[in-house]
Amino acid sequence: MKIVSTFRQARDLSQERVGLVPTMGYLHEGHLSLIEAASDGNDTVVVSIFVNPLQFNETTDLDSYPRDIERDASLAHKAGADILFVPDAEYMYPAEPRVTVSVSEVSGGMEGAHRPGHFAGVATVVAKLFAGIQPDSAYFGRKDAQQLAVVRTMGSDLGFPINVHGMPIVREFDGLALSSRNVKIDPALRTSARSLSSGLSLAADAFEAGEMASGVLKRIVGDRLGAEQSVRVEYVEVARSKDAAIVDTIDSEVFLAVAARVGNVRLIDNVHLDPGTGAADRGLRLKEPSILYGGS
Ligand code: AMP
Repeated sequence: MKIVSTFRQARDLSQERVGLVPTMGYLHEGHLSLIEAASDGNDTVVVSIFVNPLQFNETTDLDSYPRDIERDASLAHKAGADILFVPDAEYMYPAEPRVTVSVSEVSGGMEGAHRPGHFAGVATVVAKLFAGIQPDSAYFGRKDAQQLAVVRTMGSDLGFPINVHGMPIVREFDGLALSSRNVKIDPALRTSARSLSSGLSLAADAFEAGEMASGVLKRIVGDRLGAEQSVRVEYVEVARSKDAAIVDTIDSEVFLAVAARVGNVRLIDNVHLDPGTGAADRGLRLKEPSILYGGS
C-alpha cells in the first residue's frame, strides 16, 4: 500500500477498475467493511482520509475528532487498500473555496437542519474526490443514510460516471452503531448511548409486524430515548432512502433515523425499512469489542 497526498500521485498509481472509500479516518470495522467491499469489486482500492473542515459546524468537534494515521494505515492495508490518499487541508482548500456544491431538498431536513452547511461541505469534498481520483465505484455506509442520498444526488446531477454503493451499518456487540466518535462516549453513559439502537430495533420489530405509520414508529423510538436522562434527542424521522424526503406513511424504501446527544457526544443511527419485502435491515453486529478500543 502506498500513502500519497496528491490526486496526481493517486491517479498515477491506479490501475483498471478503481474503487474509492472516502473516510475521515480513525478507522473501525464499519470503514473496513467498505474497504473489503471495494477490494472485492475493483483492481485498485483508494481509501481517502481527510477530516474535512468544510463539513464541521462546531470547531470543538473538528479539533477533538480522533486522528491516528499510523494506526489507520495498518488497518486499511490489512483490509485491502492499495492507496491511502491523505491530503492536507492546504492542498484540498488552498483558499476559501469559491466553488461549492449544494444539493437542494435532499439536504434540507434532519442532519441538514441541525448542522447548517454540513452537507454542502460533504458534497463539495466528495465532488473533489470524485473528480480527482476518478473512481469507477465509490463505497459509503448506510449509517449516514441522508449523506448517502446527498452523494447519490450530487453524483447523478453532476454526471459523474461512478457507481455509488450503500453498505450495511456495522454495530458494536451491544448494538451501538460504530462511529469514530464512540471513543469519546463516557463509559458511564454507554447504556444511554445504546438506547438509540435499541429504540430503533423495537420500531423495526413493529414495522415487521405490519406497522406502516411513521408517527407510531417515531413514538416507539421517542419513548425508548425518553427513558434515558442523559439523552437529548435532536430528531426522530422517517425519510425516503432515495431522496431523504420525510414521509408519514411507508410506501417505498425508507430509513427511520435518530440523532441525539449523549453527554457531549452527538450520535446518529438508523434502520432501513423496505415495505416491498416487509423486512427491516438493522445492519450487522460485531461479536467482540471493536478495534476502536485498542484490539486489532
Ligand atoms: P466517516 O469516517 O465517519 O466520514 O465515515 C466514512 C464512511 O464510512 C461513510 O461512508 C460512513 O457512512 C461509513 N461508516 C461510518 N460508520 C459506519 C458504520 N458503523 N457502518 C457502516 N459504514 C459506516
